[in-house]
Amino acid sequence: MPVDCKALGLKCGIEIHQQLEGEKLFCRCPTAIREDLPHFVVKRRLHAVAGESGQVDIAALAEMRKNRHFIYEGYQDTTCLVELDETPPLPVSPANLHAALQAALLLHAKPVDDLRVMRKTVVDGSNTSGFQRTALVGLDGWIETSAGRVRIPTVILEEDSCRIIREEPDAASYRLDRLGIPLLEIGTAPDITSPAHCLETAEKLGLLLRSTGRVKRGLGTIRQDINVSIAGGVRVEIKGAQELRLLPKLVEQEALRQHALLGLRDELKRLRIPAPPPVATAEGVSRTLADLTPHFRKTSSKLILRALQHKGCMLGVRLQGMAGLLGRELQPGRRLGTELSDHAKVAAGVGGLFHSDEALGKYGITPEETAAVRKELACDSHDAFLMVADTPDRARRALDAAIARLRQAFQGVPAEVRKANDDGTTSYLRPMPGAARMYPETDIPPVPVTRELLASITLPEGIEHRSQRYQKLGLDKDLAEFAAKHERSALFDAFTRQFPGLKPAYIAEVLFATERALRREGVERKRTDEDYAALLAALERGDIAKEAVLDILREQQPVVQALSRYRTLPDAALRDAIKAIVQANPGVPLNALIGRAMESLRGKAPGKRIVEELRRLVPG
Ligand SMILES: [Zn+2]
Repeated sequence: MPVDCKALGLKCGIEIHQQLEGEKLFCRCPTAIREDLPHFVVKRRLHAVAGESGQVDIAALAEMRKNRHFIYEGYQDTTCLVELDETPPLPVSPANLHAALQAALLLHAKPVDDLRVMRKTVVDGSNTSGFQRTALVGLDGWIETSAGRVRIPTVILEEDSCRIIREEPDAASYRLDRLGIPLLEIGTAPDITSPAHCLETAEKLGLLLRSTGRVKRGLGTIRQDINVSIAGGVRVEIKGAQELRLLPKLVEQEALRQHALLGLRDELKRLRIPAPPPVATAEGVSRTLADLTPHFRKTSSKLILRALQHKGCMLGVRLQGMAGLLGRELQPGRRLGTELSDHAKVAAGVGGLFHSDEALGKYGITPEETAAVRKELACDSHDAFLMVADTPDRARRALDAAIARLRQAFQGVPAEVRKANDDGTTSYLRPMPGAARMYPETDIPPVPVTRELLASITLPEGIEHRSQRYQKLGLDKDLAEFAAKHERSALFDAFTRQFPGLKPAYIAEVLFATERALRREGVERKRTDEDYAALLAALERGDIAKEAVLDILREQQPVVQALSRYRTLPDAALRDAIKAIVQANPGVPLNALIGRAMESLRGKAPGKRIVEELRRLVPG
């Protein structure tokens, strides 16, 4: 059943992070992502520090609890000491600023008077400095969509973070190549009203950014985060949607999840179920936490045995009146129990937790063990329980996090950052960052955005505009749209001027459609600008027939060299060749003759000329 997002009071905003091509933002290293082995590794530990406001960020604390160290991998020739945070950053790259202002103007945003770089606390280790540098470029822009204007309050230029390579419970490995790549962050107001509208807005923003010709292309070069809330819910941020087509599903599933959480809250209230007390209290650990280890000394569950053998224990807690609620589905295949488990994993690095609404037999836990646990925890038939097997510290932190999340269920929807899963569901990533996250970057002087600077920026033609212009040149809609987005669109424009004897639509066929046709045959060949220029010049002069184009492009050599073998026959030679074919096939009807002549003269003469000659020789 389709979800009525309007009835749920859906509000959605999108935040796009688009990498720019060229040089990095605060050093002059190239924006190269590499897959070869790194040249060096550096090991570090990070500490959360209070910003100038004196507050330690709540997200920072969540990360610090995990108590990890970080490994950074770099390259001698494409990363430098700036990425390692061992030398101060260089001033903002003028080329990057230019591109960012260009995007801001395209989005109808008002450029700032001064570009001021700020620091934003980042403590997951993905920035060697412990902060991300970010600068506001433009304000109060908008983009037109089929459902009206979507406002764009801010256009921001910032540095990308390191790439995560490996993640282990106590360590994370990052690659420095991505750190410092300029990112344009474009955030919309919550003006998006439906899942389909979210996709449309994201597509329009992507096209507009691509029209600048300054953005990186390919997988991972653009990332979309979405913010979703429904009436009575709260804003939840969903990160890491790599594929545009997943956006509508993510929006819809999040609306449903919030709806389910609100329903759960009302039910808890109606059933007068008390919230479980927090695990961590001012006096230490709550007495509700029970050590269940003795009941599992002789367990046949390999999972639990392994944990107990590694100085582990089994801790558990009773959840009064909650039997059945942990199995409540919030998104397809994801239950409240899954949610608690995710919080435990993130907070304590445990593998997960057990709860009484799941089939514990699948972990090798016997009904006798379950009964012993229920007895120890004093659970009656209305009660549920949670258990974790790990070291005492981890198990305690895991249950602390799970109970904290469960307590939020009594309020409704918690404000948090979630991760997009491939099936359109989401899982918990971290708490919503607090507001005390920005403070000025004193190493980098502000850049005045002068009238001269703004005047030097020429706005590129928007891709939509270009597509319409191509349609006026006679390209059909599909080809025009394809050509307008294509990296060779500027070349196409140049060729239409260079070869006035050829129809623009035909030039577009040659430039854009042939490659697709050959790829379908399995021929993967990148042709150069010169190849296409030589091909079109020969076509305009009439040296080769249109029918020869694909054959020439199939050749394993430059077009200039291949051309000689495809020259059209001079009229006299063509006439002789056709005469010979007619004489060799006495009595064969015209249509069959046309087929044979086309076959043997393919690419050597225009098809039209072959048919003309045959008709003269063989009266139909
Ligand atoms: Zn560098």
